[in-house]
Amino acid sequence: MTSLLILPARIASLPKAELHLHLEGSIQPATVCALTARHGVVMAEEEVRQRYAYHDFYTEVTLSIGVMLLRKQRPEANFEALIRATEPFESSGLRFRWVFDAARQFGVDAAMEVVESAERCHSKAIVAFGIGGDEMSIPTEEFRPVYNRAGQIGLHKLMHAGEVGGPEKIREAIEFLGAERIGHGIAAINDPKLMDFLAERKIPLEICPGSNMKTAALAKQLGRKDARIEDHPLPQLLRHGIPVVLSTDDPAMFHTTLHEEYANAARMGLQEHELVSIVEMGFEHAFAPAREIHGT
Ligand SMILES: [Zn+2]
Repeated sequence: MTSLLILPARIASLPKAELHLHLEGSIQPATVCALTARHGVVMAEEEVRQRYAYHDFYTEVTLSIGVMLLRKQRPEANFEALIRATEPFESSGLRFRWVFDAARQFGVDAAMEVVESAERCHSKAIVAFGIGGDEMSIPTEEFRPVYNRAGQIGLHKLMHAGEVGGPEKIREAIEFLGAERIGHGIAAINDPKLMDFLAERKIPLEICPGSNMKTAALAKQLGRKDARIEDHPLPQLLRHGIPVVLSTDDPAMFHTTLHEEYANAARMGLQEHELVSIVEMGFEHAFAPAREIHGT
């Protein structure tokens, strides 16, 4: 069933916030056309452009600064270019804020360099520091000084945890590093005590169902070979009182949109009022103040 049929019209028309979105997974329509053509799929640019026709949209975009540094690029120059490219859209109701992201497997020193780069950019639009990458690589606790530094320069704290790693990765990110939102965090479903903890502390999980299907993270957390979207634990997590925000992760890579993710949530059996509450939580748990998000 297409997302338009399954998604209540009221949900489709509400302004939305997207808090877990990697820039590298989100590209220009013309680039999409060129890339799909190279792989034998011909798409009209207009068709692609329609998928990108956003209004009333707030997003916190994750930038892989760790990868930029690894490639000897200057993140400050890249960031300046991004600000220049996105600023014109603010007048049509699009709001961009940025997350400087390190890759866990690159190590503690490299992660510290990402925080330092955020400090050098000296921009209020950079709202958070986060770590993604290979959850199984370096122990969480080692990043304590990095998160302390991020806190000192006024950044919020994020971490990808419990996507493919176990629930202990989520707890460590919160207890050792002070993570305020968890990227994915679907492993929580395997630890009832952690679910209570997340609900009590009101720590939001950034849930990306399409991504979890495509990367097989969902099947892994459920201990199965295959999983269907209907098996996703989003309803249980939400109904347990854990805040959740819905996101696409890497929309171009996973062929999804935020509307499609809301349709996925509807496929899991969530009721209209529950979908509305997820839309609202997207704004509630955003890091920019409400007046900046709504531009008033
Ligand atoms: Zn991610």
